[in-house]
Amino acid sequence: MQLTANNPNRKSWLHVAVDCDFPIQNIPFGVFLTKDDIITIGTRIGEYAIDLGALHQLGYFEGIPLTDDIFMQDSLNDFIADGRITWRLVRNRIADIFDVNNQKLQANQAHRDEVIFDMKDIEVLLPVDIGDYTDFYSSKEHATNVGIMFRGPENALMPNWKHIPVGYHGRASSIIVSGTPIIRPCGQTMPPDASKPVFGPTKRLDMELETAFITTAANHLGESIPVNDAEEYIFGMVLFNDWSARDIQKWEYVPLGPFLGKSFASTISPWIVTMDALEPFRCESPKQDVEVLDYLKQDRTDNAYDIKLQAFLETENGDVNKLTETNFKHMYWSMKQQLAHHTINGCNVRAGDMMGSGTLSGATREAFASMLEIAWAGKKPITLKDGSTRVFFNDGDNVIIKGHCKNENVRIGFGTCAGKILPSK
Ligand code: MN
Repeated sequence: MQLTANNPNRKSWLHVAVDCDFPIQNIPFGVFLTKDDIITIGTRIGEYAIDLGALHQLGYFEGIPLTDDIFMQDSLNDFIADGRITWRLVRNRIADIFDVNNQKLQANQAHRDEVIFDMKDIEVLLPVDIGDYTDFYSSKEHATNVGIMFRGPENALMPNWKHIPVGYHGRASSIIVSGTPIIRPCGQTMPPDASKPVFGPTKRLDMELETAFITTAANHLGESIPVNDAEEYIFGMVLFNDWSARDIQKWEYVPLGPFLGKSFASTISPWIVTMDALEPFRCESPKQDVEVLDYLKQDRTDNAYDIKLQAFLETENGDVNKLTETNFKHMYWSMKQQLAHHTINGCNVRAGDMMGSGTLSGATREAFASMLEIAWAGKKPITLKDGSTRVFFNDGDNVIIKGHCKNENVRIGFGTCAGKILPSK
């Protein structure tokens, strides 16, 4: 099926600013609360949120096989479960409805009043009821940096790292939407010179700049997804801050890996950008210099996406400090390989599952994607505009992740993924 929604020449009758992440070529999916307290599935064009439930009731999706209440839900899970053909039909239709050459909704003020909301009048909600969340560790630069800090430069990458997309099962219940405050977690830590552990608020609250992908129902228990088919089962992507309490993590992680140092909160951006919208930004993935096992071998070499990612720290006086700038395309293991590996043992992946990329560090300090790396485990503080320094985050800090793709024709973005840190309770 043609992705007519991606036509770069298409213009919307809704106003879209030049640098906006949400032109008519994006058409992401999300869930929002209207000012009348109605929860609906929607999309976004420019600074407008569009109620897909209302559009469907008014007959604008005629001819597409959809259940009557598919968009009148508080999560996208059922729509995602409908599969890629349906996503494409709906996205193409939305592009047609809002095309400047189409008068149908454009000329119907009563319908417009029912369907279109100013972004400032709605509240975005978590777009998916996330069943299972997995976090990978797929940036070679991040794994190397952490390895150097913990084991020294000779043994930075573990022997399995170039053979397996390393990952762990995370916690889904504490995944929250952008704008939700982060309460500084308390926990058990072992201070450097202490002989026994202490309890208290984390002193090393950190971000992990990541992306995450959302899957549709992919395989039955006992079956696996071939790597070259894996794309069919990926609905779209969000920005993802995998908040981490490094002192809690350091004490607890042996031998089973991250636990309470990660599970207190993870923030995602509210609009899921479809893989179809990202297709024009597909690019060559990093060359894998160790031959992988057959089930991880990909037919294509362009398995990466050119997504520019940035993180900012907004201090309480309103200053915005850039922390890092990196790119998704550096990720060593592709999303297809992650999904193939995840299911190779027969583990079933369901609609609404979420997989984190791992911290997406680039090669230099300017591109490191966690404070652990930027300030090198507390040894190299950064100085902010207000003259204060940070090695990790303070209470009152607002951490903002942004991401977008851009070529000569179009800019497709994710908006923001933000969380302000509040003192521990
Ligand atoms: Mn992570």
